[in-house]
Amino acid sequence: MFEISKNSYLTLLKLSGVSSFMQDNPNNLYEKKENVNIPSEDRSISGVKNIEDLKIFVNNSIDCNFKKNAKKTVVCDGNEKAKIMLIGEAPGAEEDKIGKPFVGAAGQLLNKMLDAISLNRNKVYITNVIPWRPPNNRAPTNEEILKCLPFIQKHIELINPKIIVLLGSTASKAILTTNLSISKLRGSWHEYKSINLKNKIKCLVTYHPAFLLRSPNYKKQSWEDLKMIEKKIVDENI
Ligand code: URA
Repeated sequence: MFEISKNSYLTLLKLSGVSSFMQDNPNNLYEKKENVNIPSEDRSISGVKNIEDLKIFVNNSIDCNFKKNAKKTVVCDGNEKAKIMLIGEAPGAEEDKIGKPFVGAAGQLLNKMLDAISLNRNKVYITNVIPWRPPNNRAPTNEEILKCLPFIQKHIELINPKIIVLLGSTASKAILTTNLSISKLRGSWHEYKSINLKNKIKCLVTYHPAFLLRSPNYKKQSWEDLKMIEKKIVDENI
């Protein structure tokens, strides 16, 4: 049987000219193994069984070149049992200092957005596509997103929320495997499918709070998105 490692697979995709996929097929960037008992030096992400394992796995990963410049690996905040998962792009300077996602100015706005629909950090789970701060807060490239994709895919599988809120274009691109703009993606529910999950997860795309700080005119649309989340919570008793 022909076997291919994750990195070779990603390289192969890249060399083939693939830069995005629509999610017609479930993701399978890592195979699932039952009863894994792999020694720590060659543990693959398929051996990660809980968030604590994932934190260790991500922290030990050397795949992404952002890591060498980052002060902290930023994995998550909030409630692991939450039914609502928020996914952002990557840590900024404050997050890099403190080691938690969305604690800087964008995080303050995110807290207010959550509060507006009676949510708070104890009722949601928050993470990013990229666990390390990119130099000068630049947007991650497609290649960097692909390298970190197994982390966020595993993260989703472990939390298995009812709703995913994708904050901004990096999260939307990574999770919905599309290059469509936020303005085209927002306003309707999308689905996330994984080969390791029996259920599909409803995803809503909305503007990143850092973008809203720079472009407050978009707050009206952001409020419409928040109301869609609120309605879904009520309608589906989440
Ligand atoms: N922007 C993000 O996307 N994530 C953070 O954690 C902070 C700012």
